[in-house]
Amino acid sequence: MTQYVYRFGGGVSDGGAGDRNLLGGKGANLAEMASIGLPVPPGFTISTEMCTRYYQEGEHFPDSLRAEVANGLAHIEGITGKTFGNPADPLLVSVRSGARVSMPGMMDTVLNLGLNDETVEGLAATSGDARFAWDSYRRFIQMYSDVVLGLDHGSFEEALEIAKEDQGHFLDTDMNAADWQKLVGEYKRLVQEQWGKPFPQDVHDQLWGAIGAVFGSWQSERAKVYRRLNDIPGGWGTAVNVQAMVFGNMGETSATGVAFTRNPSTGERAYYGEFLINAQGEDVVAGIRTPQYLTRAAREAAGAKPASMEEAMPETFAELARVFELLETHYRDMQDIEFTVERGKLWMLQTRNGKRTAKAALKMAVDMAHEGLITEEQAVGRVDPAALDQLLHPTLDPDAPRDVLTKGLPASPGAASGAVVFDADTAEKRAELGDAVILVRVETSPEDIHGMHAAKGILTARGGMTSHAAVVARGMGRPCVSGAGTLAIDAKAKLFRVGDRTIREGETITIDGATGEVMAGEVATVQPELAGDFGTLMEWADKVRRLRVRTNAETPADCRTARGFGAEGIGLCRTEHMFFDAARITAVRQMILATDEKGRRAALAKLLPEQRGDFAEIFEIMAGLPVTIRLLDPPLHEFLPHEEAEFEEVARATGLGVEALKRRAAELHEFNPMLGHRGCRLGVTYPEIYEMQARAIFEAAVEVAEKTGEAPIPEVMVPLVATRRELELMKELIDRTAEAVFAEKGRRLDYLVGTMIELPRAALKAGEVAEVGAFFSFGTNDLTQTTLGVSRDDAGRFLTSYVDKGIFLRDPFVSLDVEGVGELIRIAAERGRATRPDLKLGICGEHGGDPASIAFCESVRLDYVSASPYRVPIARLAAAQAALRG
Ligand code: PEP
Ligand code: MG
Repeated sequence: MTQYVYRFGGGVSDGGAGDRNLLGGKGANLAEMASIGLPVPPGFTISTEMCTRYYQEGEHFPDSLRAEVANGLAHIEGITGKTFGNPADPLLVSVRSGARVSMPGMMDTVLNLGLNDETVEGLAATSGDARFAWDSYRRFIQMYSDVVLGLDHGSFEEALEIAKEDQGHFLDTDMNAADWQKLVGEYKRLVQEQWGKPFPQDVHDQLWGAIGAVFGSWQSERAKVYRRLNDIPGGWGTAVNVQAMVFGNMGETSATGVAFTRNPSTGERAYYGEFLINAQGEDVVAGIRTPQYLTRAAREAAGAKPASMEEAMPETFAELARVFELLETHYRDMQDIEFTVERGKLWMLQTRNGKRTAKAALKMAVDMAHEGLITEEQAVGRVDPAALDQLLHPTLDPDAPRDVLTKGLPASPGAASGAVVFDADTAEKRAELGDAVILVRVETSPEDIHGMHAAKGILTARGGMTSHAAVVARGMGRPCVSGAGTLAIDAKAKLFRVGDRTIREGETITIDGATGEVMAGEVATVQPELAGDFGTLMEWADKVRRLRVRTNAETPADCRTARGFGAEGIGLCRTEHMFFDAARITAVRQMILATDEKGRRAALAKLLPEQRGDFAEIFEIMAGLPVTIRLLDPPLHEFLPHEEAEFEEVARATGLGVEALKRRAAELHEFNPMLGHRGCRLGVTYPEIYEMQARAIFEAAVEVAEKTGEAPIPEVMVPLVATRRELELMKELIDRTAEAVFAEKGRRLDYLVGTMIELPRAALKAGEVAEVGAFFSFGTNDLTQTTLGVSRDDAGRFLTSYVDKGIFLRDPFVSLDVEGVGELIRIAAERGRATRPDLKLGICGEHGGDPASIAFCESVRLDYVSASPYRVPIARLAAAQAALRG
């Protein structure tokens, strides 16, 4: 029979760090911490397999689970000496979610479970603190009613506010035992009223209700959105952890906190975190009370008054610091820790590899390798390539004038400017319209996740460095300033005030997540510094990578940027982009609208020197590196004039009448242009177009070779080939043109002629196609479109549902459909190489910059990937990681 319950604590660990898939991250690490002798409250984990089975069986638990859970409870009771439901000395437990990867705040938790009208008295007696016991009971009812019973959270909050007002209290801490007891009565009345039944008094009913709710929260809307944004498969499921409660709210010698062993924002080697005296765990993350600093240095740096933990509880802090060191050495990575101090005794509630910004990931990886904690290769594996994006984009110009409104906490670095919005839905709507927005909230909650994702930056008035907003923003790579306490936000009126200034919805502000500054208007930015840790890590990556990395670029500026980022050539130069230039478009239109070859040649003659100039510039920038130039690809109708004035301009250039031109334009209309007169079909029907382009390439190459002494290596690429014969015709044309140019100039050059593989037929007949072409470049944008029969321009409307329903794991236009499109690539590579062993293979679709797709390219041993300039470093790192894994 399958085992579903795994115990930990008190010298027992049924699982360990290696069981993350089964026990979830939290469960696996609790077991691991217990096994290395750290103080972990005893408990048990119900595995993720149970979550899957729970849903398969229509949200029911198998009978066998009852006995296993009873065993788990007996384990906890044995160690704590307390009994679940015992009115004299009750055991209380927490019930928490914990998936394979952490999903901060996305799923449910219940604390203080096991309290009822009788056990509350027992808790009061054993703790000697009736106030604490009744406060715990009311917290439990409140949380349980929300999470398990699904009752209106607001009405409980309201009852609490009224209770405080009635007693003339301002803070929760002003409430005494009798006040809390009275509130418990009111809460029970609310439960009866809204649920139609009394609050469950049987502790076992309570437990099963909570277990069901936590498993159930795996399918909550916000968890689904989070999974979609983070590519987490729905099939993984969550585990449930049931653990003895320890209390940070048992007076002034108790506390609770969260900590990182290094700074997750900058990567600096300094303990980082927050704690609250006399508080329960949720109080820190919820951002309701502003927590205190962990270390004296951090407190002083922030100019804060309230004592740090290092100062307020020196002995416990020293013990905590010892645990930090132990955990870092054990896991060889920065840890994110939750702890509680109960009457002076330290308890570890959680540890996990901490989320971090890209900047911090980079610094920590390089530092840890230098410290000898990990190897250089491990360091290369530590940085998420996609997150490098955060580092490659501009930061605020330190010399630019700034109109500072206020300063909050630097919760997630990076700078962002945008229009102020006050709710997540508006953020999403405006972002869809292409606006840059800054989401401004008193504090964020998991319901805001879609708005945080849509926003360029996040600003909150409340909450610390480990608040929901801060954690989620860092995970998403969004700049965030949190806890800007001087902001008075009036979300209803859609404005905030700071001092005597008022900023309304739609006005532009800038936030700097590295300093915490909030500024009115937009502030100028500067390009990032690519030396230092970044350079070091890239060097280590380049040592281990096998795949070459090229770039997709056609403008001189893009070519320079890409070369600066380490591109090793051009994998795709799309020549049509050059045709849209305002100075040339009329000649292009003249060519398209011409009714015969003579008319086309006249227009092409005007374009030749322009194209030659483009190519010469690119060859010079890419001196010594291969440059793949693709001949004209898009359907001609994309260049057609639309406006009357445009037709008139072409009429003047050609001497033809506007009406005749319009008739010709109508003739060129296609019903399905992406499958129409495009790609090499243009070259087959109008060879003079490709002839002009080939001539421009070879003339430019000879010119640059003569000028610089360094001959470029042009790779002339024919698009949208389906058959061997198409490529053969085009190759003859290109070779003939090359010979003509070489004869005219009296100088020869090496060059290659190859093809894109964008059609399934070309992939299948790759053996024949390779008889003609010296290289293949997989155009996976079109190959995905043509293999799936899904229009790349229209797929957005339904692909989200496809991903939600698990038909595709990810959008196949973003991350390669390895099973389908990948199969064609594999076939083409094998058949092509069988014909021509030295066939050069690369990829130039958008997938060339996607880490998962790059890993696939490594597995079929392509020679290179080609990515847009800003993704070149991402591709270098992803290629290195793929090589290390391979
Ligand atoms: C492709 O199809 O993958 C490709 C690179 O060409 P384009 O995106 O220009 O169609
Ligand atoms: Mg294409």
